[in-house]
Amino acid sequence: MTVSSPPAPLTVASFLAREHGLLIGGRWRPAESGQTFVSVDPATGHPLATLARGGPADVDAAVAAARAALADPRWRDLNPLQRGELLHRLAELVEEHAEELALIESLDNGKPVSVARAVDVGTTAKLFRYFSGWPSKFEGATIPLSPRGGLRILNYTVHEPVGVVGAIVPWNFPMSMASWKLAPALAMGNTVVLKPAEETSLSTLRLAELAAEAGFPPGVLNVVTGPGSVVGAAIAAHPGVDKVAFTGSTEVGRLVTTAATGNMKKVSLELGGKSPHIVLPDADPAAVAAAAADGIFFNQGQTCTAGSRLYVHADLYDEVMSALVEHARRIVVGPGQDPATQMGPLVSARQLATVNSYVESGLAEGAVLATGGTRPDGLGDQYAGGYFLAPTVLTETTHAMRVVREEIFGPVLVAMRWREVDELIDKANDSPYGLSAGLWTNNLTQAHRIAAAIRAGTIWINCYNLTDPASPFGGFKQSGWGREMGRGVLEQYTETKSVWVNLT
Ligand code: NAD
Repeated sequence: MTVSSPPAPLTVASFLAREHGLLIGGRWRPAESGQTFVSVDPATGHPLATLARGGPADVDAAVAAARAALADPRWRDLNPLQRGELLHRLAELVEEHAEELALIESLDNGKPVSVARAVDVGTTAKLFRYFSGWPSKFEGATIPLSPRGGLRILNYTVHEPVGVVGAIVPWNFPMSMASWKLAPALAMGNTVVLKPAEETSLSTLRLAELAAEAGFPPGVLNVVTGPGSVVGAAIAAHPGVDKVAFTGSTEVGRLVTTAATGNMKKVSLELGGKSPHIVLPDADPAAVAAAAADGIFFNQGQTCTAGSRLYVHADLYDEVMSALVEHARRIVVGPGQDPATQMGPLVSARQLATVNSYVESGLAEGAVLATGGTRPDGLGDQYAGGYFLAPTVLTETTHAMRVVREEIFGPVLVAMRWREVDELIDKANDSPYGLSAGLWTNNLTQAHRIAAAIRAGTIWINCYNLTDPASPFGGFKQSGWGREMGRGVLEQYTETKSVWVNLT
């Protein structure tokens, strides 16, 4: 297989038809082993594209290219405004190619193309635009010291790139999860070896082409596709990688952290969640039912912040639950490319099997199936092999059940009643995760009291699932280490140097 630079003009069909290579040092090339793997369309189960199956030798080559690019004057010597301009240009290119990127994301992941356009593509462009302003604004400090012996010292700090960043991302928001890492890493002058999830690598490959078009020099961004246990593990353990930025499951986050200790890499982790979504007694039942449904069924429930544990005050429980079940039954499930579709298939046969097994375990432990739990009716024959599951609601659930304790990562809501606020807070915090929480009320005192008491990185009050590049995002407890986005993330992509000058 030989992989050449992209032909023009590009259509999504011609993009998919290529044999996709690895991007190493500015060249697209096959895997060293010559092996490939196939990405599947989750709506049909049919092959969508063929990709290079990278291995340790490819990771070695990508890390070497990234190290060389760190010292390349075309990157190292850019001034901050010039670096910012590259990020800004990439934001513009993402917007110019929005339709194409959204279609690629929808075909590869299964999500509705409208979601891919508004959320995945929209977030990616916004991220690069926001971080394009930081290179010229992330200042060090001059620090007033009190040295002994009458010394006069000028002490200042400078932020320097960490070096080579290994970025490993999941399949739920493929391109935007990549951009959460790429934008701050590149803004701060690092170079990157990026590994997309094997289920959904295509949009990231296209983004890498756009980055080259924007003018990022060769080797600044390298992409190695392939299995996590091979490519991801090699990046996490590689002595030439200075920092690993991981988004994915808590289980794999643990493996990555252990592998990273060899050369004491910096590690940042965005991991799983099991977020409580809370309804107080003064909330509007109809509005809250719709919001709770969106909180879990958005992106087929494959959202780290999914409001997957619903706690409704007992006074409102019956009314909210009956509206929610009605709402769930009306959600149009279908292929992501159908404009009528509100919920697409799950990403893979494996994910569908996992989610189905959770539903079965919930029922075996005594939960009641209020709706869903099966493949929806009415999908055409061409979608017989697709990974569809109807929006599913389990009631009469308790904290002893696996469906309440573990992250399902699918369109399955578990619902519970509550009466006393203290008991509610205990239940909301009764989880190894602490990524996010939502609550619905106009009672200011209760809203702030509950927001303060819940151990989670994001609290949404009368809204849910909003993010912004300017606001920090990340988890308490086993939901991660560090924060993405906002000013704070820049610390994670820089080393701070303290310089002492004796002026005595
Ligand atoms: P995953 O942990 O299985 O995989 C994530 C990435 O790690 C993939 O690229 C995978 O190939 C790679 N990987 C797998 N094994 C590896 C290994 N041994 N060493 C290094 N890398 C390896 O997760 P997933 O199934 O792709 O995504 C779902 C998970 O991601 C959920 O738990 C979800 O909550 C989490 N997630 C978290 C956030 C967040 O911001 N907190 C965002 C999105 C998804």
